[in-house]
Amino acid sequence: MKKCPYCKIDVGGDLKKCPLCQSKLAGVAGEAYFPKQTHRKIQSFLYKLQLFIIWTLIIAGIGVDFLFDIRIPHFENVHYSLIIAMWLIAFEFGIMSQFRRGGGSSRKMTLVVFIILALLSVTAYYFDFLELTLNWICPVAITGTMIANFVLAMIDRKGNAMVYLLTNLLVGVLPYIVLHFWDKKMPATWIICTLMSVILFVGAIIFKSRSVAGEIRRRLSV
Ligand SMILES: [Zn+2]
Repeated sequence: MKKCPYCKIDVGGDLKKCPLCQSKLAGVAGEAYFPKQTHRKIQSFLYKLQLFIIWTLIIAGIGVDFLFDIRIPHFENVHYSLIIAMWLIAFEFGIMSQFRRGGGSSRKMTLVVFIILALLSVTAYYFDFLELTLNWICPVAITGTMIANFVLAMIDRKGNAMVYLLTNLLVGVLPYIVLHFWDKKMPATWIICTLMSVILFVGAIIFKSRSVAGEIRRRLSV
């Protein structure tokens, strides 16, 4: 049994410091109370290591871009280091949210897809492939996410994914409304995306009517 010379208490196990005053304990260590957490330690070290590498990349990139004034050929006006920094910081937030408990896979997936699409659109604006991104990549990725959300909502017994189906409907129909009032011609991919969101919503009502009604009631508190 170990003893704290200041608090005058006996401390079992193999602790090195007093749990009350953090002073060094005297006496002989007993058998350990808690299992050693080496796995967590390694995980925490790897996390810090990648965090350090990411920040090194961000700082080095900004240094090369602004201080040495080295630019990508044909894109002399683009501060590419800011775009790289934007992606790396988003990646870091992604890792952090993966470590956090709860939220559900549906929520995480939807959030990740939308953040990636937003960053991609900014990148595409500077590197001149915005049209491809807005007309093809975004609607295809959103349609894919909606289908995955639908499958998750169908197999989820607690009905947590239901709210994402309802969000799906909004996300699928909103671009159509925006483009309609913007007086732009609707690309076929967005039309398919919109139709898909309505079809999946109808599917949700047919297969999970009770859970959809419950979700609406809970959200609107009616
Ligand atoms: Zn003490």
